[in-house]
Amino acid sequence: MMTETERTLRIELAACYRIFAYLGWDELIYNHITVKLPDTPNHFLINPYGLHYSEITASSLLKVDIMGNKIDESEYDANPAGMVIHSAIHAVRPDLHCITHLHTNEGLAVACSRTGLRHDNFYSVMLYNRVAYHDFEGLTVNDGEKQRLVQSLGQHSQLILRNHGLLSGGATIEEAFIATWTLQRACEIQVACDATGQAIIPISDEIGEKTEQLLAKQIGAAGLGQREYAAMRRLVEQHNPGFEDL
Ligand SMILES: [Zn+2]
Repeated sequence: MMTETERTLRIELAACYRIFAYLGWDELIYNHITVKLPDTPNHFLINPYGLHYSEITASSLLKVDIMGNKIDESEYDANPAGMVIHSAIHAVRPDLHCITHLHTNEGLAVACSRTGLRHDNFYSVMLYNRVAYHDFEGLTVNDGEKQRLVQSLGQHSQLILRNHGLLSGGATIEEAFIATWTLQRACEIQVACDATGQAIIPISDEIGEKTEQLLAKQIGAAGLGQREYAAMRRLVEQHNPGFEDL
């Protein structure tokens, strides 16, 4: 019997996948957005392996445990390689109910650059002191790397996986969405700035710290990202309806 909480989260997460597809943050049938089910803390929802983000519906989302085992019957499985990162973080960070992972061009370009994200544009300055880094160890995430990954993240909620991509977490789907959006925008602008070949005006640490303190108050507040997410949900309801199939 599905709880009302699970039903709501399934619909919200399906909407989130379609929002990501709409924004071009999809990657064939790969990558994941996961959300924990609060009634059964070791269970989380994940995309069925084989569907494009734009095809995902509330009922097709898989419920898996922290080891990646399916809890309910489904014709689909979870992508075992990809979900390792999510399950490793869900296992140790109960505050991050939702985790997103992107392989966008701009995210990869910044993740591959030696300096990483510079806090010298409107979006990246909002992430001053907020982004951690994890060195690339190849495709397979083994148990040893899981531990190092969690160590790399520490108490941050956003991680640049070097040579690989972006990862963001949030207390809610809405919060993870807005964190993802800010990091993606920060990377897009950095790549666009670098492409001009012009010298970039630096932003001082003082301004970075001030911005961070100002935003820290908002990040603790309830409802972060709700309005933005709701607007994007209305957009995908028009553009690609049918995900609320419960
Ligand atoms: Zn990846």
